[in-house]
Amino acid sequence: MSAAEVNQTILIVEDDALNMRLFQDLLTARGYNTIACRDGALALALAIERRPELVIMDIQLNGMSGLELTQCLKADERTSRIPVLAVTAFAMRNDEKRIRAAGCDGYLPKPIQVDSFFNEVAAIALERALA
Ligand code: MN
Repeated sequence: MSAAEVNQTILIVEDDALNMRLFQDLLTARGYNTIACRDGALALALAIERRPELVIMDIQLNGMSGLELTQCLKADERTSRIPVLAVTAFAMRNDEKRIRAAGCDGYLPKPIQVDSFFNEVAAIALERALA
């Protein structure tokens, strides 16, 4: 089943314009709908309003961090079941533990590898579709 067939929408929370462009280009080329958001506080409202199938979450955001934002999403029953795929430029040994503890369902270090990116997106989105 391709993304286009299931018409999945992905909320991208990313404050870097180039990374945002990259995520949008990759995902739309595969048939996903995307919602772009550069601001953590807005992302929460967008997730509640639009109910995306997946959130791609930059961890290093201005203001509210991606981890705090993920905790808020997971604490709200309207958004708690939306999977979150974290992306971070500062991947260190303990980061994955911290990221998982915040409630993220998956994790990718930047720069992202296109193949693993799509594998993660498809795996998480599929789990969600089957849930
Ligand atoms: Mn950032």
